[in-house]
Amino acid sequence: MTGAAGFPQTNGASQRDSGSRGVLVAARLTHELTLSPRPIPALNSPELWAQGEATDHMILTRYNLANGGWATPQLVPYGPLSLMPTAAALHYATECFEGMKLYRGVDGRIRLFRPEHNAMRMRQSAARVSLPDFPAEQLVELIAALAAVDAPRWLPKDRPGTYLYVRPTMIATQPSLAMKKASEALLYIILVCFPDFDQPTGSLGPPAQGGKVRRPGLRLLASGKDMVRAWPGGFGNCKVGANYGPSIIASAAAAQQGFDQILWLLGGEEWVTEAGACNFFAVVKPKGGLGRTQLLTAPLGSGVVLPGVTRTSVLETVSETLPNELDVVERNFSIHELMDAASDGRLVECFVCGTAFFITPVGEISYEGRAIRVPVGDERGRSGNLVERLRERLSAIMQGDIEHPWAYVVEEGEVSTP
Ligand code: PLP
Repeated sequence: MTGAAGFPQTNGASQRDSGSRGVLVAARLTHELTLSPRPIPALNSPELWAQGEATDHMILTRYNLANGGWATPQLVPYGPLSLMPTAAALHYATECFEGMKLYRGVDGRIRLFRPEHNAMRMRQSAARVSLPDFPAEQLVELIAALAAVDAPRWLPKDRPGTYLYVRPTMIATQPSLAMKKASEALLYIILVCFPDFDQPTGSLGPPAQGGKVRRPGLRLLASGKDMVRAWPGGFGNCKVGANYGPSIIASAAAAQQGFDQILWLLGGEEWVTEAGACNFFAVVKPKGGLGRTQLLTAPLGSGVVLPGVTRTSVLETVSETLPNELDVVERNFSIHELMDAASDGRLVECFVCGTAFFITPVGEISYEGRAIRVPVGDERGRSGNLVERLRERLSAIMQGDIEHPWAYVVEEGEVSTP
C-alpha cells in the first residue's frame, strides 16, 4: 500500500496542501541536494556500530509562534544545527523523538512499518513537553520524501533485508531560560546507519572491538529498589529524551555484569513494566492447568509503559491469527508471579519487542541475585513457538514477502519541487 490511510483528523491540515500559512505541509518541501555525497560505512564496521553516521540529507522544518506557526519544510544536505546556548531544549529537556526503520524489501522496494503510529505517538510526546502540534500524516509524508531521495544510494536494491533507522526529532529552540511552552521549535528528520541488533547469537559489537557472542536468549537484570524508570502520572509513555538519559547509568552497569538489558520493575509489588527500550511479554500457563495459556504484557494507561508499535502489532497479530491458542492479557503482573510460574514449570517463554531489537527471546532474568531461567528454543536462541511465529509474520510484512496494509511503500527518486 502506498500512503498512510486511517489517520484521525489532526490540527486542521489533513489535506495535502491546505494553502493556509503556518500549517505543516509536506507538499511544499523544498530540495537542496548535496554536492558532496558522504561516505557509506561498510557492513558491520565500527562506524555502523557507533550509530552516528547519517545519510546525505535531512529535513528541517521550523516553528515560530510569532510568525504564525510552521514554516516551509526543507530537504538540505546533512550537517550541523545552529542553536543559541539559551535554547530551551538544552536546559529543560523540551524535546521528543521517534524511531522506526526503513526496510529494503525482498522485492527491491522500500517500506516503513505502520509509520502513522509513530507519527501519532510523536504528537503525544510533543504535547507532554509543551512542543507544538503538527498533522501526523504530514510527518509521514516528509519521512517518505527523505527516504525517496536517500534510499537509492544508502539502501541499495541489491541488499534486501537491510535497513536505515529513521529518527524524527523535535526540540524547543526559543533562546530563553524562561520555563514556558515552546514558542520556537525545530522538527528535523534524519536517517542513520544502524547495525543489525536483531541477532540472537550474533555479535554485540563490531568483532574488531571485542564484541562477544551471545548465548541463546537475552539476559535481563531486574532493576533494584533504588531506581525507577517511570511512574504513574509521569511520562514513561512518551518518547522524550528525559526518559532515556537517566536510565543509561543502570543499563551501563547491567552491561558491565554481562546483562543485555534492564527489566524495569515498579513499586512495592515489583510490577514488570518494560525491558530497556523494549516492551516485555511472558507466555504463562495457568495454575493447576485450568484455563488457557496467557500472553501477558503490562497495561498502558497509567503512563508508565511506552505504547510500542511492535507491542501493538504483536497483540493484534496474536488476537487475529491465533485466537484459539492464547488469551492476550494486558494487566499488571509482578516479578514474583514470573518466579512462581518458572518454579512450577508454567513459564513457557518470554520475549522483548521493539523497533531496534525486533522480537527477541529472553533466556534469563536475574532478580536479587537469583536467576529465573526461561525456556528458549535451540542453540541459535530461536525460542518457542510464539516468538518464531511472530517474527516470521511481522518480518514478512516489513520485507514485502506478503502484501499487508501495515506496510507503507515509499516510491523512490521522486524529487519534485513546488
Ligand atoms: N519501550 C521503550 C522505552 C522504547 O524506547 C521503545 C522503542 O521505541 C519501545 C518500548 C518499543 O517501541 P516500538 O515498538 O515502537 O519501537
